[in-house]
Amino acid sequence: MYAAGAILLGMAAGLLFMPSEPVEAERISQAVELNVITPSVDETPVAEEIIEPQIEWRELSVGKGDTLSDMFARANLPASDMMNIINSGNHGKSLTRIYPGQSISYARNERGKLIGLRHHISRLESTEFTLTENGIEADKIVLTPDVFEQYKTATIDSSLFLAGQRAGLSQNQIMEVAGIFSGVIDFVLDPRKGDNFSVLYEELFLNGEKIGDGNIIAAQYNGNDGEYTAYRYTDEQGNVGFYSPDGVSMRKAFLRAPLDFTRISSSFNLRRKHPIHNKIKAHRGIDYAAPRGTPIYAAGDGRVIKAGFSRANGNYVFIQHGEQYVTKYLHLHKRKVKQGQRVKQKQIIGSVGSTGYATGPHLHYEFLVNGVHRNPRTIVDKLPKAKSIDKREMARFNEATQPVAQQFAAYQQRFAMNDMSADQGN
Ligand SMILES: [Zn+2]
Repeated sequence: MYAAGAILLGMAAGLLFMPSEPVEAERISQAVELNVITPSVDETPVAEEIIEPQIEWRELSVGKGDTLSDMFARANLPASDMMNIINSGNHGKSLTRIYPGQSISYARNERGKLIGLRHHISRLESTEFTLTENGIEADKIVLTPDVFEQYKTATIDSSLFLAGQRAGLSQNQIMEVAGIFSGVIDFVLDPRKGDNFSVLYEELFLNGEKIGDGNIIAAQYNGNDGEYTAYRYTDEQGNVGFYSPDGVSMRKAFLRAPLDFTRISSSFNLRRKHPIHNKIKAHRGIDYAAPRGTPIYAAGDGRVIKAGFSRANGNYVFIQHGEQYVTKYLHLHKRKVKQGQRVKQKQIIGSVGSTGYATGPHLHYEFLVNGVHRNPRTIVDKLPKAKSIDKREMARFNEATQPVAQQFAAYQQRFAMNDMSADQGN
């Protein structure tokens, strides 16, 4: 779910980018060739376009803290028109929620009266208000981008992050790849040099221009401890997840580490003496050194059984997962959950700090099974996975993933051959 969230965020960020070309040109192309959702009007489109007088649209970007009143004032438009539009229905109400990165454009007739207003919500979404003597009409315009596939592959030199960047993947995509495999690969601690990964994903285009990345469809990770392939699949209930070719979920019941691997300091050492207790044996968890304020996630779904402060632990949170498991998080800078609260895996429960007996900002993390401390790093592999595809759904799963698998394999083969010819050339 986190991975899906990350990519959605990425898309949203991409879509916030507003067109710089004249708005009228874009409007025409929308109507002609794209999937435009507009109420049907009785007209002959061609004739209409010839007869319609040239209307000049002006566009204003929404700045930080701008309200619709500010925008109207800046455009020198009457506040009465604004009120009429807002009160014209549900679409009108949405105008009260405008955000930086969006824009408003407007058109006046030859007498200077406002006749049209557009709220550009994203590259793909806008609302248009037409003002006539008979009232105000609102059209929601949603464009469908063209989706193309893209394939990238990389070999890790120093880190997954740098390798991904070199291959041309965005930060969000690299985080998503790490998220997909985080149940099976420990990106924090395992040496990863020489490992290789490849990704098949979607790119979104509008009028030939790239406007963002879509979903990751397939990914493969090749390392010391084996090869893992994951396909994106939406199950019968509509839940999106990544699964191995035989339908086993890539997601584990628990996160391998309750913080993002990119934030954890590389000098982290499992066997180091506890700086305050000064003995290894007494240390029953893992210390993750990370900058103060780094978000800490619930390792799995569960319920907060304790959230408080003590002299030794500082700010702490304990979470019960099912009958058998408890995870503990100590020395937090801030707590973000309350006792008794239900939490979802990867929900933020606090941030890294150095409260209590701690020399510097770090998360002290413990994992208990039936009240016994276990090594959080290795216990994850012994615990059950999150649910896999139901036997009855396997036919549907295979039907959805097999074409992707073939395509993915074809890309990999092509790139492998390119590599070989490049090697021979040297
Ligand atoms: Zn510790």
